[in-house]
Amino acid sequence: PLPSVQYMHYGSTIALYMTHSCSKLLEERCNRILRDMEGSLTARDRVGIQDFVLLDAYTSESAVLDNLRKRFNENLIYTYIGTLLVSVNPYKELGIYTKKQMDIYMGVNFFELPPHIYALADNVYRTMLTETNNHFILISGESGAGKTEASKKILQFYAVSCPSTKLLDNVRDRLLLSNPVLEAFGNAKTLKNDNSSRFGKYMDIQFDHMGGAVGGHILSYLLEKSRVVHQNHGERSFHIFYQLVEGGEEDLLRWLGLERNCQRYSYLVQGECAKVSSVNDKSDWKTVRKALSVIEFSESNIESLFAIIASVLHLGNATFVADSQGYATLNNKNYRKYLVMCDWLFSVGLTHRKIEARSEEVLSPFTVDQAVYAKDALAKAIYGRTFTWLVNELNESLANKDSSRKTVIGLLDIYGFEVFSVNSFEQFCINYCNEKLQQLFIQLTLKSEQEEYEMEGIEWESVPYFNNKIICDLVEEKFKGIISVLDEECLRPGEATDMTFLEKLEEKMGGHPHFVTHKLADQKTRKTLERGDFRLLHYAGEVTYCVVGFLDKNNDLLYRNIKEVSVPRVLAGTVVARNLHPVATQFKSSLVGLTEILMSKEPWYVRCMKPNEGKQPGLFDDVLVRHQVKYLGLMEHLRVRRAGFAYRRRYEIFLQRYKPLCPDTWPNWKGTAAEGVECLIKHLGYKPDEYKMGRTKIFIRHPRTLFATEDAFEVC
Ligand code: ADP
Ligand code: MG
Repeated sequence: PLPSVQYMHYGSTIALYMTHSCSKLLEERCNRILRDMEGSLTARDRVGIQDFVLLDAYTSESAVLDNLRKRFNENLIYTYIGTLLVSVNPYKELGIYTKKQMDIYMGVNFFELPPHIYALADNVYRTMLTETNNHFILISGESGAGKTEASKKILQFYAVSCPSTKLLDNVRDRLLLSNPVLEAFGNAKTLKNDNSSRFGKYMDIQFDHMGGAVGGHILSYLLEKSRVVHQNHGERSFHIFYQLVEGGEEDLLRWLGLERNCQRYSYLVQGECAKVSSVNDKSDWKTVRKALSVIEFSESNIESLFAIIASVLHLGNATFVADSQGYATLNNKNYRKYLVMCDWLFSVGLTHRKIEARSEEVLSPFTVDQAVYAKDALAKAIYGRTFTWLVNELNESLANKDSSRKTVIGLLDIYGFEVFSVNSFEQFCINYCNEKLQQLFIQLTLKSEQEEYEMEGIEWESVPYFNNKIICDLVEEKFKGIISVLDEECLRPGEATDMTFLEKLEEKMGGHPHFVTHKLADQKTRKTLERGDFRLLHYAGEVTYCVVGFLDKNNDLLYRNIKEVSVPRVLAGTVVARNLHPVATQFKSSLVGLTEILMSKEPWYVRCMKPNEGKQPGLFDDVLVRHQVKYLGLMEHLRVRRAGFAYRRRYEIFLQRYKPLCPDTWPNWKGTAAEGVECLIKHLGYKPDEYKMGRTKIFIRHPRTLFATEDAFEVC
C-alpha cells in the first residue's frame, strides 16, 4: 500500500485532476507524479525519506540519524523538516549546482522535487512576491558545516533566476562579487575549515515588485582581529595577505616593498602553514582584483587598500631592542623606507605613550614588551578599520538609489558554535552569538507556534523543549551577566587582571547551573579544570574558556597617541578618538540590533551539519552527527512540525486568493471570510484532519494540501 501521508499531495493533485475539467497541464503533471510514485516506492528503502515529518518513528533520534546516513551514502545531502532544510556537508563536488538544476527548481512547488537549497531559495522568493513581505534565511551549524557555501548557492540562484535587464545585471554582478572580496579580507584557514568566516555576515537582498534584485546591504559582526597578529598552529591569517604576497603583480610588490615569500613576514607564519593545498592564493588574488574593479573601487582606493595590507606586514616585522636605560627603540632601521605611514609613528609612536599629567602631555617611553604590544594593537586596529571601511564601500556600491517600495530576503551566515582545545574571548563571543540565535529560533518557531495555537483556540498538545534563555541571561544580563562582570573589571585598570575577573565570576556565578569554575568542576561535571579556566554548559555542549586575554581583548585599547595618527587616506574619517564601549558590550548591542531586524521578518532555516571532523568525503560519523541533531534542535522542530500545522493563512487572504476555485465564492462572497473559506474548502474536498479553523486563520496540517490548492489555482 502507498504510505498515505507521503503521497497526500500527489493524491490531492490527482483528486483535483479527476474532479476538475481536465487541462493538459494538469494531466501531464499527474502522469509525472504517477511515474515518480512507482520509481520512488522501490527506491525509498535505499535513499530514505526526503522529509523527516514523514518518518514513521519520527520521535526517535536514531530514526532521524538512520535516515540522514542512508541519504548521505547516496549523495543526497538535503532533507526537509517541513520547510526547514537540513544539509550535510559532502566535502566533494556533487554536480548539483548547475544552471540546469536551477532551471529544474525554478517556480516548482517545494515538495514536488527532491530537497535542494534551490527549492528553499525559490520558495522564499515566491512567497515574498505573493505576500509582498520581508523574509530571512538563517543558516546555522558549526564551523565547516557548509553555511557560507549554502549562502553563496542561494545568492547564485537568485542571480540566475531573477528577471534580468542591463541595469539589474550590474547589481547582480556586484552582489555576487562582494563575496570573494569579503572572503579575502574576512576568511582564514582554521583547524576546522580551510575557508572559515572570521566575521558574522547578514546580507539583505532587495527586490522590486517585479522580483528583480535591485540592491543589497551588508552588516558585518565582530571580525576576529586578533588573527592578524597571532595564529594557532595549523591556522593562517586572513587570506588577503597571502593572496597579495603570492599573487600580487611584480610592480605592485616592488612599490609596496614586499618580497614574494610569505616566510619573510612574521605575521604570516605564526601558525606554520602559510601554504594550504585546498587554497589557491594566486588565482584567488586575480578574482579579488577583478571583483574590486567591477564593484567600482577607484584605482587609488585599491592602491591604498593594498598599501595598508602591506604596511601591516611591515609593521609585523618591526622589532625592538632595549636601550641603555631599558627603553624600547626600533631595531630595524632598514624597513622605514617602505612605510606608508608617517615617520613619527614609527620613531615615537611605537616606543612612547602619551600621558596626561596635570594639564600637560608627556611622552613616556615604553619597555620592549610594551612596544611589541603597541605594535600588535596598531596592526589589529588598522586591519579592523580597513575591514569596516571595505564593508561600507561595498554597501555604497550595492545601494539601490531608487526609493520605491522594496521587499527583502536577508541571508544570515554567521560563525557557528566553536570548540577548540583552548577557547578564548573570541570563542566566548561566537558561542554567545549562537545562543542568541537559538533563542531567536525558539521564539520565532517553537514558542510563537505554540502561542499562536493558544490564541487561535486550536487544540494542541504542547511540545517540551529546552529554552536556552537561562544561558543567554548568564552571559548578557544587565549588572549580573558575565559581560557585565567583564566590563566592570575593565574599568579598574592597573588593579584588575584576568584572574580577578575569574574570581569575580566564581563569586557571582558559582551557583549557576550552566557555569562551572575549576573549584566546582569536580562536583558538576566530574572533569577537572585548569586554574584560569571556567566552563559554560552551552545549549550545544560544554566549552571550557581560558580567561587569559579576556580583559585585554575586551578593552581593545590603542595607546592614544597612536590613535591620533592619521593612517592612510582611505581611513581618514574612520579613526575614532576612543572606544566608548568595550568589545563584548558592543557585540551584545549589535546582536540585539540584529535580533530586531530579524524579528520583523518571516524566518526560514537551513541547518548545516558536518559528517566528520576530518573534512573527508563519504565518511559519516554517527556520534558527531547525532550530537548536531541534538543541539540544532532538530528533534524539537520535528515534533512541533509533526504535531502542528505547517501552514496558516488569515481567512481574508486565503479567500481572496483562492475564491476563483469555487462557484459559490466567486466572484463575490457575501458572508464572513471564515464562512467563505469553509465553503471553499468543502468544495475543494479537504478532509477534516487536514485542517483546523482558528479564530482568524485557517490552519493547514500539511504544506502539500496547500500546494495542491495552489496547483488547482494555477491551472484554473
Ligand atoms: P562554514 O561556513 O559552515 O564554516 P563552509 O561553507 O565554508 O563552512 O564549508 C566548508 C567547506 O566544506 C567548503 O570550503 C567546501 O569545501 C565544503 N562544502 C561545504 N558545503 C558544500 C557543498 N554543498 N558541496 C560541496 N562541498 C561543500
Ligand atoms: Mg563560513
